[in-house]
Amino acid sequence: MSQLNETHDPSLLSWVESANRPGNGFPIQNLPFGVFREKGASAAFRIGVAIGDQVLDLTALAAQNPWNGLAAEALAACTADRLNRLMALGQAHWSALRLELSRALRAGSPLQTTLEPLLVGRDAVEHDVPAHIGDYTDFYISVHHATSIGKQFRPDNPLLPNYKWVPIGYHGRASTIGVSGQAFPRPVGQTRPATEGGTPQFGPCQRLDYELELGVFIGKGNPQGQRINIEDAESHIFGLCILNDWSARDLQAWEYQPLGPFLSKNFASTISPWVVTLEALAPFREAFQRPENDPQPLPYLSSPANKAAGAFNVQMEVLLSTQASRANGEEPARLSSSNFRDAYWSIAQLVTHHTVNGCMLQAGDLFGTGTLSGPGEGEQASLLELTSNGPITLPWGEQRRFLEDHDEVILRAQCSKPGYPTISLGECAGTVLPAV
Ligand code: MN
Repeated sequence: MSQLNETHDPSLLSWVESANRPGNGFPIQNLPFGVFREKGASAAFRIGVAIGDQVLDLTALAAQNPWNGLAAEALAACTADRLNRLMALGQAHWSALRLELSRALRAGSPLQTTLEPLLVGRDAVEHDVPAHIGDYTDFYISVHHATSIGKQFRPDNPLLPNYKWVPIGYHGRASTIGVSGQAFPRPVGQTRPATEGGTPQFGPCQRLDYELELGVFIGKGNPQGQRINIEDAESHIFGLCILNDWSARDLQAWEYQPLGPFLSKNFASTISPWVVTLEALAPFREAFQRPENDPQPLPYLSSPANKAAGAFNVQMEVLLSTQASRANGEEPARLSSSNFRDAYWSIAQLVTHHTVNGCMLQAGDLFGTGTLSGPGEGEQASLLELTSNGPITLPWGEQRRFLEDHDEVILRAQCSKPGYPTISLGECAGTVLPAV
């Protein structure tokens, strides 16, 4: 488990001036990793780290080989167009690289003149998915989401009996995961027959939804047959991003029994470009606690460290803009906000549970947390929950029950607390196009 160290010192300032602006989200304490290239270029993507409104080109820095030891090995793994090689090295390497980057980007660093020519403005670059994602698993770790969805189907018995014992998940599809800015056609498919026993309807999805989730990038994997104990689980996690698990609710309702979601989920999923390391999130750890009358997790899913600090205070929000609102120059409307700390399972538990049967994880695998709804009003992290009592009215007068063509959903997440610079996970935006 990542401890606090000199890279978390809240008083650290960078020679990159924009990183020192209060609330910019990418201060020297953050240092998230991603892949980038100049907008519109056809060149290969390079690995970079975000600092203020700039990206530091690590692929170019690697050619100068400024460091020794683990940091040098980690930097050498950045001569690639995806983060997988760096992810596969493990926690000690990531930490060594973060420390050298922190020192090199600090005000007064002798490396300033080496690094300055390797900066590119963040608004001048485009991104791709930061890792080759071999496998993608989506979980269901918000008990508030599970309960309110369950209520719509089973008013008397909303939570199934396994929920408080098993981190529920399904195997998703990696091929259609795209990076923020992704636009995709409205999915087409089968939906429930109008009358029981009749012929299913076929056509464009009528109940298209988003799901506000976080993504968990696996770093070092495990050999098949060797489970990852909960004590070691977090050392296998490279970092977190934001994830929108777009969902076709009408397709889902017809197909999901008995084997779970299939075509209702795999037409598109969108992630944010920057992966914020668990080490960067260490100042925002919180106790991971179950309500007193709930069953405690089985021993393999429990550890003192997980109880003491297995949760993270990450504030998230959903915004929506429409074709009409953009044409009128309206700001996107905020639909909900919620906090990752309210999840029922921790990310360490997800890793341990996923491998308890011997399942192999590999560097670059992605977990989705599941829709992160909170306990309160205004914390419903999907339209299915938010509009269960009827359509919502947007500030400019339009109504929504589900998403319309050309709607853009923008997810944001950040960590903040008094006395510490805000750590942003950036933004995850995606747009629905008409069905083809
Ligand atoms: Mn989901």
